[in-house]
Amino acid sequence: MPELPEVESIRLTLAKNTLGKKILDAEVFWPPAAVSLPGMEFGELVKDRTIDFINRRGKYLLINLSGDITLIVHFRMTGRLIYYLGKQPVDKHTHVVLHLDEGELHYSDIRKFGRMQLVPTKKASEISFLAKLGPEPLDEAFAFDKLGQQLAGKKCTIKAALLDQRVIAGLGNIYADEALFRAGIYPGRKTDSLKVSEIILLCNSIQDVLNEGIKAKGTSFRDYRDAEGNKGMFQEKLMVYGRAGQECKGCGGILAKEKIAGRTTVYCPNCQK
Ligand SMILES: [Zn+2]
Repeated sequence: MPELPEVESIRLTLAKNTLGKKILDAEVFWPPAAVSLPGMEFGELVKDRTIDFINRRGKYLLINLSGDITLIVHFRMTGRLIYYLGKQPVDKHTHVVLHLDEGELHYSDIRKFGRMQLVPTKKASEISFLAKLGPEPLDEAFAFDKLGQQLAGKKCTIKAALLDQRVIAGLGNIYADEALFRAGIYPGRKTDSLKVSEIILLCNSIQDVLNEGIKAKGTSFRDYRDAEGNKGMFQEKLMVYGRAGQECKGCGGILAKEKIAGRTTVYCPNCQK
């Protein structure tokens, strides 16, 4: 599932290729993937609009079109948005194609959980799933005291808190496990047991791991590709995620696996307390 660094990599590569381009028309092959405004057809609504700028909020991509319409993309498990300069054949997983004045934008999704949704730009921040999102961990204003406020009074495990998009936006299983390893915190710790010194370490670890993930253009285990169709490279830098039973790169001990917050969680029993 694309997390913050993957969606940010999609944003950057998409902006590089499509900013200022005009949508000539849209083909929708699987209508549930393309959500329009009530009573309006998706293709009609995007037609003749220009891609003005592209933002990201948590794991959501927000493509601002001319005329105050925003296309929100939620990739979920296997959604992909890829730009092709030339004509590209569709396959059975292609759900939407936007024909631009130069090139094509293909939205595909094997598992079909992802969505593209059109909303009025002025109301985008009020859309329920965006309004509920917690702070952006890479915002300049985000620091340990903000993270501390967000975690205050939480009795769940710290892993569950980090996965909760209302607490902090953009983390999923990969970067939550990596950040907790770097901070030396056992993912099953109760959130309200964390000391201030640990919250400071955790905040720094979250920001470092996300920035490094963006720099490596994301993590590609199975499906993830950026908007140019390229894989990320952060999977080569992972310390714990996907490495259960292997040696800890920190202490040489064996990494453990446990179900925490309903998700497979990998950690080092020596390095994480
Ligand atoms: Zn270790």
